[in-house]
Amino acid sequence: MPDKPFPVLVTGGAGYIGSHAVLALLDAGWPVVVLDDLSTGFRWAVPDAVTFVEGNVADMDLVGRTLADHGIGAILHFAGSIVVPESVVDPLKYYRNNTAASRALIEAAVTAGVPHFIFSSTAATYGIPDEVPIREDMPNRPINPYGTSKLMTEHMLRDVAAAHPLNFCALRYFNVAGADPEGRSGQSTAGATHLIKIAVEAVTGKRAHVGVFGTDYDTPDGTGVRDYIHVSDLADAHVAALEWLIENPAESRIMNCGYGRGYSVMEVLDTVDRVTNTPIVRKLEARRAGDPDLLTADNSLILETLPWRPKRDDLSLIVQHALQWEHKLAERRGES
Ligand code: UDP
Repeated sequence: MPDKPFPVLVTGGAGYIGSHAVLALLDAGWPVVVLDDLSTGFRWAVPDAVTFVEGNVADMDLVGRTLADHGIGAILHFAGSIVVPESVVDPLKYYRNNTAASRALIEAAVTAGVPHFIFSSTAATYGIPDEVPIREDMPNRPINPYGTSKLMTEHMLRDVAAAHPLNFCALRYFNVAGADPEGRSGQSTAGATHLIKIAVEAVTGKRAHVGVFGTDYDTPDGTGVRDYIHVSDLADAHVAALEWLIENPAESRIMNCGYGRGYSVMEVLDTVDRVTNTPIVRKLEARRAGDPDLLTADNSLILETLPWRPKRDDLSLIVQHALQWEHKLAERRGES
């Protein structure tokens, strides 16, 4: 889309996936406004070329003013809480920060007449699948409040799109990993729980070992299998979804975002060892509650719908970029 018809609002644009989406939008020539309350994101993650508004998506006055002042024509909504075990012990936080905040944002969008909305959803909406790869029409049976809070937002969007002149894409992310290849952003939040982030923290000495959570799964090597997608490919999918929404104003889609293939925990750690040429210490541990054996995406819907094609479907590259970013963070820690 050579002529960008309006600026887009990115909520959570100072966070991990949101900041990569901002980079992809800027690279494609889109004017961007970021709204982030900096509860988990970082001001430095927002490039200078972007208008930054500090605040919460549930603040309807602030959002309404921001939409009007900038003439926003689409919202990419990343802001939210994302830690699954925390959602189990504090479910109301998830229904507030994810479901209720999204409801307020969607209402502000409808009131301002914003016609397009892209929502950061998750494969956690499926729960434990009966079969893999998972298709979008398979049952949604989330097994934690995080997944439920995201699914409820999908339902709101579906109903709002039927009632108002707004179309939407909800992208159900599988396992997002890696960092901007040019080193402009990466995963920076403390207290990481995701495998590739944990592994690169072990490489830089931030951790002594990596725990392997369960070795008796029904998978070829007994460890959990997941569909790891490079964060920059995921970011590009949002730009493609935005352009699709503009070209197809009467249509909306809920689409899986994954590569459609899986790697086990051991395969991921083998890849990290190969990339660094040094073995990281693995500790075999018990299963983590609620982890399915296998989770991979059927990505045929997104490939049929969007011109988007993965450019970085390479586990070594994902690990290299994650590691490059982790070294940068380690340097920054050393300086401060
Ligand atoms: N995992 C692991 N050790 C860790 C973190 C994760 O063995 O320190 C495993 C986890 O059990 C799952 C896979 O790695 O099989 C991916 O987990 P992650 O937390 O990265 O993402 P999830 O699939 O839970 O969203």
